[in-house]
Amino acid sequence: MTPAPLVLASQNPKKSRELDALLRPLGWQVQALSGFTADSPVEDAPTFVENALIKARHAARISGLPAIADDSGLEVAALGGAPGVRSARYAGEPSDDAANNRRLLAALSGVPAAERGARFVCALVLLRHADDPVPVIAVGTWPGQILDAPRGDGGFGYDPLFLVPERQRSAAELGADEKARLSHRGRALRSLMQQLAADAR
Ligand code: IMP
Repeated sequence: MTPAPLVLASQNPKKSRELDALLRPLGWQVQALSGFTADSPVEDAPTFVENALIKARHAARISGLPAIADDSGLEVAALGGAPGVRSARYAGEPSDDAANNRRLLAALSGVPAAERGARFVCALVLLRHADDPVPVIAVGTWPGQILDAPRGDGGFGYDPLFLVPERQRSAAELGADEKARLSHRGRALRSLMQQLAADAR
């Protein structure tokens, strides 16, 4: 099968690396958006799906190629779903993972373990071209719990504070393959691939 070119609409290198590793074995010839532009569109929609659509459309328009974009974040029940779609900018701009984690710990200070439930959410959108009227959309979630101190040095973002209950390890203590199997991003991507396979039938 000839690899199909696909632009990955992310300027976050660590997230791109995760998605790239998931997409290449599926036959996509992944190209980084940074090869076309350094600009990012404003992601100001209230939902992960809409923000992913904004990013995918921008990437498809600029590159002239099919594009895939993800918008993701962390929802903490005790904080009414915050930081949510503002996860990357929770502690202000420019985005700073360490500052975001500090703010999250401060916001949950004194909250007992039983009330620290959270989930990662990932929306993936694939557009065959910028004006594709039927985007392929998939959403994956990953339930867990917010720790009271960081653990591990893998992954990115909130991974060191995210306890994966069935492993009793933080997401930053998982290997890349294990994270891909369990994570919101891995789940969303498998759902997207199932939809593409069904469409091809
Ligand atoms: P986006 O690039 O606008 O989608 O922002 C996503 C933000 O959500 C990141 O900057 C992280 O703070 C957080 N996030 C998303 N996925 C993950 C993950 O797999 N691990 C840790 N943090 C994540």
